[in-house]
Amino acid sequence: MAGTAVRGRLTWQTATVDSLVDETPKVRTISLSVPDWAGHQAGQHLDLRLTAEDGYQASREYSIASAPGEPVAITVEKLDDGEVSPYLTEEVQPGDELEVRGPVGGYFIWDPAVSGTTPLLLLAGGSGVVPLRAMLRHRSRVGNSVPVRLLYSVRSLADVIYRPELDAEPDGVQVIFTLTRQQPAGWTGYARRVDQAMINDVAWPVAQAPLAYVCGPTNFVEAVAADLVALGYPPLRVKTERFGATGTP
Ligand SMILES: Cc1cc2nc3c(=O)[nH]c(=O)nc-3n(C[C@H](O)[C@H](O)[C@H](O)COP(=O)(O)OP(=O)(O)OC[C@H]3O[C@@H](n4cnc5c(N)ncnc54)[C@H](O)[C@@H]3O)c2cc1C
Repeated sequence: MAGTAVRGRLTWQTATVDSLVDETPKVRTISLSVPDWAGHQAGQHLDLRLTAEDGYQASREYSIASAPGEPVAITVEKLDDGEVSPYLTEEVQPGDELEVRGPVGGYFIWDPAVSGTTPLLLLAGGSGVVPLRAMLRHRSRVGNSVPVRLLYSVRSLADVIYRPELDAEPDGVQVIFTLTRQQPAGWTGYARRVDQAMINDVAWPVAQAPLAYVCGPTNFVEAVAADLVALGYPPLRVKTERFGATGTP
């Protein structure tokens, strides 16, 4: 019933931690069991709330890392001076309970039934790769074959989230890294922050009517989106998700 689904999305519910995967030394994927989950689309996020013993509460938003139809998972990067992310990346254990609400977000969604055969350009800064990974998994699971390029800006190879999955590059998916701080010996790929020239190299031609999804720290997203529009991408074809704050992924 539609009313039930809406109520479910707006209501805090208890989720149980099922399993944990360390993606990098600072990033962990948390799989959750959420009994009344209404289902989600690729690109949506959820709200997560923690309550301390003295009743103090803190809530944060996290993109959903799993594809539609898969158990809910989030991938959290630890910010050393953060309130919530150190707990999620270092203390939470299987069997623990958290409160979640969602899914949230109707704009930053990739739905192949709506976008058809248009090529996808995915641009990630750091943990901004999380909702884009949900899109890639969704593409594989439904057997979709639209061509995809993912440009992923990250400080070093050791900071690449989902590395085994991305290295596997499913058919039709091209993953291009730019390593902004540290490069392994012999690295021939990009080694700088994403800029207009790099986007020019990587982006699908405007004539192919591509759809772009940009996600990461706010300053990354704003700079990349502006570069895409300068290249001729219509603003409505550039979907953005800002994780807040600033940073150099
Ligand atoms: C729609 C949405 C989806 C998000 N999805 C994810 C996700 O999939 N994975 C993930 O790890 N985070 C994600 N975030 C960010 C997340 O909500 C928190 O902001 C983040 O985990 C920091 O929370 P904290 O309590 O640890 O830090 P806080 O105590 O809130 O902040 C600590 C310090 O870090 C700075 N800071 C806050 N957020 C960031 C940031 N994103 N980058 C750099 N510095 C920051 C603050 O300015 C402050 O100085 C998302 C945010 C939004 C809005």
